[in-house]
Amino acid sequence: TALVVAMDGPSGSGKSSASRGVARALGLRYLDTGAMYRAITWWMLEHGVEIGDPAAVAARAAEPVLTIATDPDAPGVTVDGREVSAEIRTHEVTSAVSAVSAVPEVRARLVAEQRALIGDGDIVVEGRDIGSVVAPGAPVKVYLTASPEARARRRSAELTGTTVEAQRLAMARRDTFDSTRKADPLVMAADAVELDTTELNLDEVISEVLRLVKE
Ligand code: C5P
Repeated sequence: TALVVAMDGPSGSGKSSASRGVARALGLRYLDTGAMYRAITWWMLEHGVEIGDPAAVAARAAEPVLTIATDPDAPGVTVDGREVSAEIRTHEVTSAVSAVSAVPEVRARLVAEQRALIGDGDIVVEGRDIGSVVAPGAPVKVYLTASPEARARRRSAELTGTTVEAQRLAMARRDTFDSTRKADPLVMAADAVELDTTELNLDEVISEVLRLVKE
């Protein structure tokens, strides 16, 4: 049967690099669901939608047309035909994405699109709710964690103009928001295998996930 590897966890847990590495090693497709939430958020900001107003976001949630590439060597996302892979990583989008992704209409739309993209499987899917909501039947579910310090260190190494401490605070704020919101709070699937990456390098994380796939 076709393989689905669910890779969930907070930002800075090493999810993206590990998910792409696992997909490459196994010749599978790769889907970055966070990029989809970010792309919708970018569109809302671009169209002047009041991010703090869930009704305003909900009213326009169906409008943006998304495409997302599933090649682990060439991930990319477009909104209304525009390539926005760089735009979705800005501080502006990162600070607005939690509020947009908490809107049920946004989640319902994207979860449906993610299920369609997963299709018959043979894919590594990275996100927050893949093992719990999007693909609860996935045969392999990994939940990556890392200490707050390690996560903040990794994040601030990817960004410019920030400090480890500022990142630690911003991430703690986003985590609390994501895991305590009313609609579909982001929590680990009961049957996921938790993998703490604090003391592991990328190759070690990939090897550990490949071991879980082979089990
Ligand atoms: O993984 P990434 O940091 O790109 O995700 C950005 C944000 O998108 C998360 O903080 C979360 O609010 C939202 N998200 C989500 N469900 C997913 C993936 C991401 O709500 N499956």
